Amino acid sequence: MAEIDRDVLKLEMTGWRHDLHAHPEFGFEVERTAAFVAAKLREFGLDDVAEGVGGTGVVGTLKRGSGNRAIALRADMDALRISEQSAAPYRSGNPGIMHACGHDGHTAMLLGAAKLLAEEGGFDGIVRFIFQPAEEWGKGALAMLDDGLMQRFPFDEIFGLHNMPGLPIGHFETRVGPVMSAEDIFEIVLRGLGGHAARPHSGQETLVAACALVTNLQTIVSRRLSPADISVVSVTELITDGTRNALPGLARILGDARSFRSEVSAEIECQMRIIAEGIATAYNVAAEVNYTREFVPLRNDAELVDAAFAAAGTVFEPGNIAVAREPKPASEDFARFLDHVPGCFVFLGNGEASAPLHNSSYDFNDDGLLFGANFHVAIARQRLAT
Ligand SMILES: [Zn+2]
Ligand SMILES: [Zn+2]
Repeated sequence: MAEIDRDVLKLEMTGWRHDLHAHPEFGFEVERTAAFVAAKLREFGLDDVAEGVGGTGVVGTLKRGSGNRAIALRADMDALRISEQSAAPYRSGNPGIMHACGHDGHTAMLLGAAKLLAEEGGFDGIVRFIFQPAEEWGKGALAMLDDGLMQRFPFDEIFGLHNMPGLPIGHFETRVGPVMSAEDIFEIVLRGLGGHAARPHSGQETLVAACALVTNLQTIVSRRLSPADISVVSVTELITDGTRNALPGLARILGDARSFRSEVSAEIECQMRIIAEGIATAYNVAAEVNYTREFVPLRNDAELVDAAFAAAGTVFEPGNIAVAREPKPASEDFARFLDHVPGCFVFLGNGEASAPLHNSSYDFNDDGLLFGANFHVAIARQRLAT
């Protein structure tokens, strides 16, 4: 089978990436992106291309030889509600939406891998190419799973990747066990009785209670959880219905908690409820705690991490492959697939000069495209060896 010229493919992937970047779409509304992906997969001659999986997800299937083992390679397609600061000719044409997490790059890399594997083969079995919507919401992977992904397109293991600002281009890292954190969000509503700013004793104002609560929430991580468990509890908003000369009868405290084990997430919620009730009693107001789990922790399978490092050895310079020192306190809904099959999530450099993810000046670095496509191909060929 003819080998594809990698330099030509890199230029082609760059063109796709710029097209996707100029047309960013949010959440499940990735209709144009999904249509773009499906059209490319059909053009590459995949055996099957299914659209509308979990809303706007796309699943491509490629079979070679007689093997029944199947692996999945996953990319995310959605952008963020951020206004892009960029002079690039391919900057966002959708005001207020931009690809600030590099999912345009991830999509282009996986399309490149699909083209390579479709034309060059080199594996025996089934490769599923999963393009999911709504990663940033933590809802897309679940939507595809709820739509029968595992039954309709079964696979034995799954691999995914994310670009990493600060890590040089051509560098690769991952680790065994915890990789990305769970994300929980919370809202604590304090209800009392608002009143005149000059007569605090005649009402049950909520602002001083809210301030005490915000301060006490800092003791969950520092005094109530084991120092061996990494976690974060961040209060991000405090909103009241007060005005300059009227004390608030209502205060809302909102925030975000991260952890790497579900037991820790459960303990954070439990301690938050104890503190909220205690403070509410002390300040003579009522507290209501709403605590929800958006992302589950992402944990890599040890055997598949070994496989990923071996595959990376054929793509990256030996000195550019490293074990990630610590888990990242950000979240990824790739973790949802790992409730069904073992998997491995890896990080690829986006360059030391890259703006951070979710920053209005961020841009995916096209010099990373070929590394990502080649890694996908290497892991598929290794896990489905002929
Ligand atoms: Zn993101
Ligand atoms: Zn992302």
